[in-house]
Amino acid sequence: MKKVQVPAGRPLGRIVCPNCGNDREFVEVARNVVVTTRYVQNDDGSFTPDEGDSEVLGKVGLYCGQCDADVSIYHNHVMEMIF
Ligand SMILES: [Zn+2]
Repeated sequence: MKKVQVPAGRPLGRIVCPNCGNDREFVEVARNVVVTTRYVQNDDGSFTPDEGDSEVLGKVGLYCGQCDADVSIYHNHVMEMIF
């Protein structure tokens, strides 16, 4: 993943990749995620997932979906804008 200089501060309106101009596709990458799923074994031997839990232990980054530029500075903005 390439390192790009991203202007500091909060973007106004839509975010745009400073490297390639992409404003459509972004990829969130969570590292060191522990996923726990509890299963119940049924009488016929099949299993049913009962409850699940995932815990992110590492950094969560945001990358441009076109050129893989690191745009993690916009991650909080994306989290706030998911509806
Ligand atoms: Zn890009």
